[in-house]
Amino acid sequence: MEIKDTLYIGGEWVAPAGTNTIEVVSPTTEEVIARVPEASEGDVDRAVEAAKAALAGPYPQLTPAERADYLAKLSQAIQARSQEMAEVITAEMGSPSSWSLMGQVLSSTMVLDGWADLTRTFPFEEIRPGALGPVLVRKEPVGVSAGIIPWNVPLFIVALKLGAALAAGSPMILKPSPETPLDGYILGEILDEIELPKGMVSILPAGREVGEYIVRHRGVDKVGFTGSTAAGRKVGAICGEMLKRCTLELGGKSAAIILDDADLASTVPLLMGTALMNNGEACIAQTRILASRARYDEVVDALADAVKATSVGDPTDPSVAVGPLVAERQRDRVLGYIEKGRSEGAQVAVGGGRPAGLDKGWFVEPTLFTRVDNQMTIAQEEIFGPVLAVLPYDDPADAVRIANDSDYGLSGSVWTSDVEAGIDVARQVRTGTYGINQFGTLDMRNPFGGFKSSGVGRELGPEGLSAYLETKSIVLPGDYTPPS
Ligand code: NAD
Repeated sequence: MEIKDTLYIGGEWVAPAGTNTIEVVSPTTEEVIARVPEASEGDVDRAVEAAKAALAGPYPQLTPAERADYLAKLSQAIQARSQEMAEVITAEMGSPSSWSLMGQVLSSTMVLDGWADLTRTFPFEEIRPGALGPVLVRKEPVGVSAGIIPWNVPLFIVALKLGAALAAGSPMILKPSPETPLDGYILGEILDEIELPKGMVSILPAGREVGEYIVRHRGVDKVGFTGSTAAGRKVGAICGEMLKRCTLELGGKSAAIILDDADLASTVPLLMGTALMNNGEACIAQTRILASRARYDEVVDALADAVKATSVGDPTDPSVAVGPLVAERQRDRVLGYIEKGRSEGAQVAVGGGRPAGLDKGWFVEPTLFTRVDNQMTIAQEEIFGPVLAVLPYDDPADAVRIANDSDYGLSGSVWTSDVEAGIDVARQVRTGTYGINQFGTLDMRNPFGGFKSSGVGRELGPEGLSAYLETKSIVLPGDYTPPS
């Protein structure tokens, strides 16, 4: 068993202020695989002081090109340890190894590469014509920022937030989830290796109380939160009350619309990848599958075959597509939704329980529901497990209506042989990202975020960078000319 006795605070490995510990339990074997200190309020105070000192320099005053070099180095250093990082994430939260190298780690380095490139070209200072004379418009770091991280894609969410903060010049306090503290230890070693100036990053694994303490801390100017909609409402309320900048990336219940001209042979494998991605523990998972009444049975048959063929088991086995869920409570929650689906009248076409022969580990069978009405609980609530629902629609307008009949608006997709028809559907669905015949409904360099209860604000792209910047207008004398 791995035992850690330090925390990464302001770029130093230090003894924790408190005595609480976190036990990391393998979702596959149910055994304790590591014990790490749980950060406490005293650690947060130290991290905030270190971040405030770092804000004074030298990192925030570096040129954008110098900051971009740090981001590129961070990406390269993670790539150099990508296999190890992927294995650690698989061990702590059960992501299948067939997916984790790309989905958890290399996708994160692609995000960091995107931040590096954007930092080199973003207009951090520009002179604009004003009403009375020229105006110097400056983008300055937002101040001390905090990144609150969920357990499902821990490094990827760090890359979204820390990448933006380092691009902007903002020190960041990261709070990993108690389920996934181990990848943060590798990240700390990597930050040492690239010699990031001290104080810029602290990594404080802890639960929601310490998370809330960070959010309320007067020394924290900006909160980047990713997690459930329920927690996001709370975080948003605190930030609103304190007039703190905040970005909320929350849950989803995305609809994949299969138009009648879609080629099912090519659609189904890609769609399965986005629907059961990361054991179904993905905010952008396409879990409501909409098929026309004319092709409903055909679509159900094709999906049922694919779900039946999905291998479940030890996530370290590269032939396994679906591993265990992160925790026993998550397994029970997902099984509870399956029961609810049955009791509300939906029909289980495949799966519907715990897989036979897997006595240890928090496994749930990949499950396909048919005869689902959009008002049912399994069509409205985020399940966060390998559970799919196929809903019938009358015509494309009805499909768009069903897709939009949701509190969420994070992602979605349309499957068609007519891309223009797909773009037409995409324009009508109220979500923050959308894919046409795409496995990926999120692009590593373009804005990502939610409409409605899926969040507030955007990450990635210039919009995501702006969320870590304050804008200052310096009104210059009318006859000002910049030095040549
Ligand atoms: P969660 O809301 O329970 O926890 C997320 C993080 O917030 C954890 O670090 C947790 O300790 C912390 N936290 C919880 N309550 C808090 C509070 N009141 N104040 C401060 N911090 C608090 O979510 P989870 O179970 O870890 O993650 C799954 C959820 O995350 C799903 O709903 C999923 O859709 C969502 N998610 C969204 C995105 C996105 O980009 N939109 C990406 C990944 C996951």
